[in-house]
Amino acid sequence: MDKENPPPATRSHPRHHAVPPYLLVSMAACDGVWEAPEAMREFIAPPVAPEDRDLPGAPGQSAGSDFETRSRIATRARQTLLLDQALLHERATTHADIARLMDPTGRLARIISDAQGAESTPGNPVRAEGESPIQDLDVNRAYDGLGAVYEFLADMFKRSSLDGSGLVLRGTVHYGQYYDNAFWDGTQMVMGDGDGEVFNSFTSSLSVIAHELGHGLLQYTTNLDYQGQSGALNESIADVMGALVEQFVAGQDAASASWLIGEGLFTDAVHGVALRSMAAPGTAYDDPILGKDPQPATMAGYLDTTEDNGGVHLNSGIPNHAFYLFATALGGNAWETAGSLWFNVIATRALPQDADFGIFAEQTLLQARRDHGAGSAIELALVEAWDAVGVHPVVQEAVNE
Ligand SMILES: [Zn+2]
Repeated sequence: MDKENPPPATRSHPRHHAVPPYLLVSMAACDGVWEAPEAMREFIAPPVAPEDRDLPGAPGQSAGSDFETRSRIATRARQTLLLDQALLHERATTHADIARLMDPTGRLARIISDAQGAESTPGNPVRAEGESPIQDLDVNRAYDGLGAVYEFLADMFKRSSLDGSGLVLRGTVHYGQYYDNAFWDGTQMVMGDGDGEVFNSFTSSLSVIAHELGHGLLQYTTNLDYQGQSGALNESIADVMGALVEQFVAGQDAASASWLIGEGLFTDAVHGVALRSMAAPGTAYDDPILGKDPQPATMAGYLDTTEDNGGVHLNSGIPNHAFYLFATALGGNAWETAGSLWFNVIATRALPQDADFGIFAEQTLLQARRDHGAGSAIELALVEAWDAVGVHPVVQEAVNE
């Protein structure tokens, strides 16, 4: 497989002229479950999200009043609510880099590094696969979180790591000073400690860890454009991954799960329970400083905005809620029927990178027919879920496969 000669970029993102150049990577991905294409696949990294490092000073560095400090924290926190910096590529990722990240055995392999407060990755390696816990809660939570995602993919989807080929799972903790964010940088998960005023450490939420790795999974499957509805689907599928891994680890069925993303991330000072709620988008927080959770649950509340890459963290509430409705209608464990259906849609790569909600919904319905036959109760539940959030796919022909 030729990993040294990436194909040229085939698409552009004209609305993102202000962002750094896109990163083009191509690689083969080998799926274990499907008769997946072995051919080289190309993808273009989404535009880099704005960073919050240039915002006014972090708490603790300021000599200003409490109010000023508080408002700076609020500014950073609001940024965080919109920008998890998915697929942020701060450094070049070459094909040689990717090759080095592969574990030839395909087995679970983790490396946690400590950035020690610097905004650079990976930092000092502090815990490698098989090593005992160390005296650092963030390191151990990151290690366990990466392991949970690996086990989830292996158990549920017979997939070896994010890429299907044993990609070594890497995580950096203690990134930056009071850093209010977490992100997937194209090769690894990166976690800030939070400011302690609004956000706790980002390793405190397994759904956030799994969300970031969900972006990694998407990178190796359907690399949905990080803009508008396809970007909202990217965010939503990452949230689905976040929720499902958390439920999987806790052994919670769809009815008893919280369906919250980032539960435990807010400090006690914040009036809110999580970053997002899949069960009730728009209700995760309502805080004097942060404002109210702006996520719509249905197309009636769709936010037509140029902020947040076209509302990727906002309108993701709509497909999030559809998944929640579908999974809870089916009952049982959400990661089984509902989760595997979503996973099959992205992993079979039938979805175009610029898919909108209607196209995605259509693909889920087609996948439901493939998995369960036409007219199944599962397909009907899916139709009802999409209908309830105002997304109306037109499935034009039956699947003949
Ligand atoms: Zn995200």
